[in-house]
Amino acid sequence: MTNYQEIWNKVLEKLKDESGEASFNEIFSNAKEVYKFENNYVYVSVPNELIKFRINQYYSKKIKEFTDNLTNSPIGFKFITKKDIEKEVKINNGSKFVQPDAKNVGRNLSSIYRFDNFVVGESNRFAFLTSMKVAENPVMVCNPLYIFGDVGVGKTHLMTSIGNFMLDNNINTNVVYTSSQKFAEDYFLATSKNSRDKIMSFYEKYNSADLLLVDDIQFLEGKQATQEEFFKIFEELVNKNKQIILTSDRPANSLKNVMARLKSRFTWGISVSINQPDHNLLINILKKKLSILIEDPNDVPNDVLDILANYFPSNIRDLEGALRTYVNYCICMNCPFTKDNLYIALEQLLPSKANKIDSTKEIITKAIDVVCDYYKVSTNDILSTSRKQQIVFARQMLMYILKVNLNIPLQTIGDSLGNRDHATVSHGIDKITILLKKDNLSKTDYNNLYKKLLEE
Ligand code: ADP
Ligand code: MG
Repeated sequence: MTNYQEIWNKVLEKLKDESGEASFNEIFSNAKEVYKFENNYVYVSVPNELIKFRINQYYSKKIKEFTDNLTNSPIGFKFITKKDIEKEVKINNGSKFVQPDAKNVGRNLSSIYRFDNFVVGESNRFAFLTSMKVAENPVMVCNPLYIFGDVGVGKTHLMTSIGNFMLDNNINTNVVYTSSQKFAEDYFLATSKNSRDKIMSFYEKYNSADLLLVDDIQFLEGKQATQEEFFKIFEELVNKNKQIILTSDRPANSLKNVMARLKSRFTWGISVSINQPDHNLLINILKKKLSILIEDPNDVPNDVLDILANYFPSNIRDLEGALRTYVNYCICMNCPFTKDNLYIALEQLLPSKANKIDSTKEIITKAIDVVCDYYKVSTNDILSTSRKQQIVFARQMLMYILKVNLNIPLQTIGDSLGNRDHATVSHGIDKITILLKKDNLSKTDYNNLYKKLLEE
């Protein structure tokens, strides 16, 4: 009979050689024991969810590779926490099976937003790690956890992941998810009829939370009465040692027209920001989302992903929508995943302001003006054959914006910019595509130009 513990010991040795003693100990020092073997899986017990998550996220490929080299049997490794084991033992002993509680049936927490489909990069790493810690040790790490950042950077996803994580650990956790607008509406409806029952059920809903998630807290600004109510609920939950998570588009101390005592409660715990994603993170998110949409994400060429990431540099929600539109277009029209088809599919998604300018000529003239003004060059320079670095760069950036953002055909771009041919325009666009990937200054230029184009 195969000795699975021995195989795991050998895999551990290889992992140690590969990752070095310090990182190895951090993850695997308490993950050495095989718990059981079932359905071709060897279950190794690990101390907690964080370790389980890290192993699955960062080491699963290596573990598979080492295992395949060590044995011919088709086995895999799974990791199981002490808590999972306790649950399993309880069920096997015939003790009372934990039934989902009615209060969680129909809860409005989206089950798709989870830690394991949240892609981590520089801009969200601290927020992510703190959220994981809070989910594992509610109240102990901080209360409240305040997550802030611009629209579409992943605040709701991260906050919801905490809720799902806690529910996965204990299905009877009463997770109450709301937005501050919904909270205000609930309060308004509870008080408008002057019915005692309605008010009681309002308090019951919020005060019974084990975990209260309030999204977009900035909308409490200026709502004095709602703030008073929220303050009471906040105090009650904190006193009962219940975790509160808040999200906002700005730091707590920048909230205006919010009662000082409420603001000071918000800053009690830990504030974490999610910053603007960098190009790498956007590409990794696109790949992750693609793996759900199509069988082989490699079918979509990298330059398509680059263009998409440049097109939606800051709002991941818009980025995801564009990806979905593109994939759907190619599948429905039965056409390949190419750059050209991306431009066609995205035509419908052009920002509405840009759409309003109906003639192509007008769009081009406007883009030329914006770019010339930004780089302090003249229209004649742009149309000329000058090879001065600053002029070439401005011209290529203009080509890029005309094609990628405004979807003007290559030939028309060439004709409008001093009768250049199709290949020259294409070359210019490729240069900027590459530059935007690695050069932050060009990326800032591009973002500014794009904003200006939409503003005017
Ligand atoms: P916010 O609340 O900050 O406006 P959301 O959490 O609603 O943003 O995120 C918008 C979309 O982008 C969601 O579909 C979410 O899944 C996705 N998203 C954001 N950040 C990430 C990430 N790091 N990994 C995977 N998906 C992400
Ligand atoms: Mg949100």
